Amino acid sequence: MTRVPPLDRLGRPLGVLRLSLTARCNLACPYCLPDGVEPPGLLTLRQRLAVIEAAVALGAGSLRLTGGEPLLHDGLEALIAAAAPLRERGLREIALTSNGVLLSAERARTLRAAGLQRITLSLDGTTGESVGRMAGAGGADPGERARRGQVLLAKVLAAIEHARAAGFDPRRGELKLNAVIQRGVNDDQLLPLAALGRERGLELRLIEFMDVGTRNGWQPETVLSAAEMVDRIGHRWPLEPRGRGAHGTASRWRYGDAGTGGSGSTGGGAHLAVVASVTAPFCGDCNRLRVTADGIAYTCLFAAPGSGLDLRPWLQPQPDPVGLRQALADRWRRRQDRYSEERQELWQASAPQHPTTSRHAEMAYLGG
Ligand code: SAM
Ligand code: SF4
Repeated sequence: MTRVPPLDRLGRPLGVLRLSLTARCNLACPYCLPDGVEPPGLLTLRQRLAVIEAAVALGAGSLRLTGGEPLLHDGLEALIAAAAPLRERGLREIALTSNGVLLSAERARTLRAAGLQRITLSLDGTTGESVGRMAGAGGADPGERARRGQVLLAKVLAAIEHARAAGFDPRRGELKLNAVIQRGVNDDQLLPLAALGRERGLELRLIEFMDVGTRNGWQPETVLSAAEMVDRIGHRWPLEPRGRGAHGTASRWRYGDAGTGGSGSTGGGAHLAVVASVTAPFCGDCNRLRVTADGIAYTCLFAAPGSGLDLRPWLQPQPDPVGLRQALADRWRRRQDRYSEERQELWQASAPQHPTTSRHAEMAYLGG
């Protein structure tokens, strides 16, 4: 019998499962600020696989593994290998988002061999000082921050090459860079980051600083809009709009000098992308389900803590696949969140307060 994938109240299908494997991180980026401790009751591999199977049965074609820092999780490769056969049931891609600090050459190879298809590495600067500041390294001492940032930068640059050598090809979109840009904090890194992406043949995805969580001191003034990012980079290198794909988060641009004999890269570095979740929200076709490391399902990145659906009743003591699928389908059908669009509507009406949710679950818990 063919099952009809559920649509939510706004007609949105389920397309992506973002599964967080740990809430812990080896960095302390001030815009994210992870807890440092794991929530109790982490899911086992078998339980995670049951969640992935249920999401795939409901239409999810993309699995994105995240955290906290997912490379801290020893069961990562085993989970990827266990999920890979779900390709026969509609899972098209298994992807990882990581800060890259622990991505050795060996780890990149084992991840590839397990069945990982894409890696997005996060890097918010190109100098020791900027990387240290954005990673929350070295405390208040500027010298120590720059020194530690330099070590982190070297590790992430090496991780890019380890991933490439292991077969993650940026020309096929299998290796990309994420950077969060905060006005007045690291916006001086925009051009150097764009230059890095071009030189290394990587698509750079610039993300607006978002009001996820409650600890990162977010204020509207701290957001550098995606439009301004594109404008600044476009003054240095010509950019042609390529649009945002259906259900995508990123609007893409192509460097005008790419592939024309100019100095621009023709590989993944031919493109720049911006994620304008604050200034140009894309809730209208959001197809993402988020499940935390302890098995709580959220349908919005800006959800309030405690508002998620606890999946453990269908996972313990043994997974109940039918009950789990039904519970997730019911939850998805009731979904009507569109936080970023509501926030924008309030701004346009000059109402400075946040919409429906004033407290948000933390980013490292939700997994981005
Ligand atoms: N630790 C991994 C990493 O940093 O890539 C994976 C988890 S992290 C929560 C996922 C993504 O969310 C990263 O690219 C990170 O830069 C981004 N992120 C975290 N906090 C953010 C915020 N307040 N605004 C925008 N992006 C944020
Ligand atoms: Fe860690 Fe990623 Fe959060 Fe930075 S953004 S603290 S690397 S989970």
